[in-house]
Amino acid sequence: MPDDQKRKRIGYVDHAVDIGGGENSLIELISRLDQSRFIPVLLHTAGAKWLDRPELSDIEKVAAFQPMSLLEKKRDEVAARRWPLIWNALTTIQPAWLLHRALRRAKIDLVHTNSLKAHFIGGLAARLAHRPLVWHVRDLLGEDEGLSLLRRATRMFTPRVIAISEAVAGQFAGLSAKVTVIPNGIPLDKFTPGPAPRGLRAELGLAEADKVIAVVGRLTPWKGHMNLLEAVSDITSSWPTVKLVVVGEVAFWEPEYEQQLKRRATELGLAEQVIWAGFRTDVPDILRLCDVFVLPSVNEPFGRAIIEAMAVGRPVVATASGGVPEIVVDGETGLLVPPEDPHALAQAIDAMLSDPHKSKEMGRQGLVRAREKFGADRVARQVQELYEAMLGA
Ligand code: UDP
Repeated sequence: MPDDQKRKRIGYVDHAVDIGGGENSLIELISRLDQSRFIPVLLHTAGAKWLDRPELSDIEKVAAFQPMSLLEKKRDEVAARRWPLIWNALTTIQPAWLLHRALRRAKIDLVHTNSLKAHFIGGLAARLAHRPLVWHVRDLLGEDEGLSLLRRATRMFTPRVIAISEAVAGQFAGLSAKVTVIPNGIPLDKFTPGPAPRGLRAELGLAEADKVIAVVGRLTPWKGHMNLLEAVSDITSSWPTVKLVVVGEVAFWEPEYEQQLKRRATELGLAEQVIWAGFRTDVPDILRLCDVFVLPSVNEPFGRAIIEAMAVGRPVVATASGGVPEIVVDGETGLLVPPEDPHALAQAIDAMLSDPHKSKEMGRQGLVRAREKFGADRVARQVQELYEAMLGA
């Protein structure tokens, strides 16, 4: 058994209640940590829904935050817009005080924050507890979404920053923080090419002859689903058997968005064409049965789902937004179109469906690229090197 005295305790701070790409990536990292050198401790929101993942079963967990109710969230959104500094200070100080005590109790050697709110709370807590701090930054913020607050907090807490893409790293330009770009990785053993299980087509209501487009991700306005609906309605006359499988669910604070999307689909005459699959745990299988994977984001920090699609050998149509051009090689592993341009999106999807030979080749190239560049093992290796450099191990 490794000597516990020598192993460094890494405190992972994430405030999300629902699972998203950030939490998936964190689980991949934690489950690959070399436990002869590091002990992961997860500091999470009480009642978070993703803690039952089998990869986390043996991981030490500390409920460090209370979840925000929907009502508080709405009220805070208004306050955040009007008085961002005051709002942020109020919603940071008390949880940071509790977290700093949790860090001391759990004997954390290094604090690694994994979600936006956690950077602020964890940043202050790490300061109070005198612990080194890593921010794993996964968000791409607009000016009105707290970018200047993030930059201010960077000066205040002096974190070592991991950015998941060059686009995300760009938010720290001109600051003295040391930023390392470590693109997300996925479990390449789970996302492999192959046939989808028998019966999945039928379960989703797909006929053998249907042309299947899939989109995977949270149903939230910046993911661009509205534009994709427009694009699909553009191509239905050329492709009467096209079906769009929408995988993902709304966030708890904007439940009405799902109805808005469904209403728009009906208005566009797509009630039969769109399959609302909801949250799925069999994403690799759904990707395996699609002809084209589409991510129509307006502003995408990375787009983990894209590399998942590439790893099962699917060609990708995506918007050239944020970190996406760092993943998709336009014309080689997929097609990139400008964000918020449904017509361009429709043309690219049409081009993919029209030339199965070429799209198959793009899927093949995507698979090679995913395996070469986007494995989760590489992420764990790079992050551990960074810990060692910081802890002087
Ligand atoms: N995901 C899932 N089931 C769903 C929808 C999404 O397992 O129904 C996973 C998806 O496979 C990916 C992650 O959630 O690993 C979404 O990550 P991405 O970076 O694409 O999107 P975001 O975190 O911005 O929602």
